Amino acid sequence: MSLDASLRARAAKVIPGGMYGHLNAALHGDRYPQFFVRAEGARQWDADGREYVDLMCSWGPMIVGHRNPRVEAAAAAQQAEGDCLNGPGPVMVELAELLVDLIPSADWAMFSKNGTDATTQALMVARAATGRTKALVAHGAYHGADPWCTPGMSGVTPNQRADTIEFTYNDLAGAEAAAAQADGDVAAILVTPFKHDSFEDQEPADAEFARGVRALADRLGAALVIDDVRAGWRLDLRGSWEPLGVRPDLTAWSKAMANGFPIAAVTGTDALRGAAQTLYSTGSFWFSATAMAAAKATIEILREIDGPALMHRAGTRLREGIAAQAAAHGFVVRQTGPVQVPWLSFEDDDTLEKGIAWAGACLEEGVYLHAWHNWFLSAAHTDEEIDRALQGTDAAFAKLRAAYGAD
Ligand code: PMP
Repeated sequence: MSLDASLRARAAKVIPGGMYGHLNAALHGDRYPQFFVRAEGARQWDADGREYVDLMCSWGPMIVGHRNPRVEAAAAAQQAEGDCLNGPGPVMVELAELLVDLIPSADWAMFSKNGTDATTQALMVARAATGRTKALVAHGAYHGADPWCTPGMSGVTPNQRADTIEFTYNDLAGAEAAAAQADGDVAAILVTPFKHDSFEDQEPADAEFARGVRALADRLGAALVIDDVRAGWRLDLRGSWEPLGVRPDLTAWSKAMANGFPIAAVTGTDALRGAAQTLYSTGSFWFSATAMAAAKATIEILREIDGPALMHRAGTRLREGIAAQAAAHGFVVRQTGPVQVPWLSFEDDDTLEKGIAWAGACLEEGVYLHAWHNWFLSAAHTDEEIDRALQGTDAAFAKLRAAYGAD
């Protein structure tokens, strides 16, 4: 029995469902390994020692290479002095200063651990500031696993959802209708920087939609919150809607912020500083200094090397390579989303049967990517790493062609 299989058998006895949440390999098709043991640069190894070019970057957190020496050294130096102390270390102030310097919409920063902490905290700041209740969110957008936003209803009461009103992403009239439904009681409009819902082709934000929700929030006196948890640090270090010229009141950050160390942040404008101060918002591990030191090093590196540009280069190489391969093997595919956060779907594949078969074949060929969730590029994806990944994707297209017969 493989180590992965024996770990799964043991896990089934001591962990609900053997594994819970979206990292449950059972959700990903039958070829996904559940357990991983090691990572370096752009590679990861599963429990059975199989090596992969990592195109998921641990589902987002890795951004400057697994075990990046500079990030690891910064974290280790802090860890050696003390991590979880009676209060935050000086590094908390340094990190907040760095964010305020880097992000035009940030006059202050608050820290926590997970993306859900940050989105929930942002909504609470908006509610505290406005004295209002409702959150307008795009249907299908993922903002985390707290009761107000989790995609599942298990363990959630209808009351906990009563203050969340949905609209369709990129549909400004729909967002305005949702606001009308709330009858003026809107605390916040929450948007992801582009539509990156699972199982669906990704969609860029329409500039008119982005400007429109900004104006709508202003008209309502509500906060515009950008949930940059997934896209943050990959598209534009100043915030993902900066290129559109649309600035949020609050932004939720996490995932890639510390190259895998656990940290999240909310940044906000001066107008919301007073409200932010009133929240009772804390956690036993939220002020651990190690992750803050790792975040500072990660963001400094990204700034120095122009991380988004490197990821754009890597993502473009991958996208162009895959497009040529798909055409050569006679498959029509759609590659959507920014190249740094890409996804691929096959035409006439509503059930994702082909997508799942192709992703499974990629795994066999040493490339870890996903059939229903977007992938992530990193600054460690050099041309050589992308070319290695493309060898795998090409072989996977060939296998798929063999399985589906001649075009
Ligand atoms: N918002 C977005 C856009 C996300 O992608 C995620 C995580 N996938 C979250 C919020 C929640 O983050 P976390 O899983 O760290 O709580």
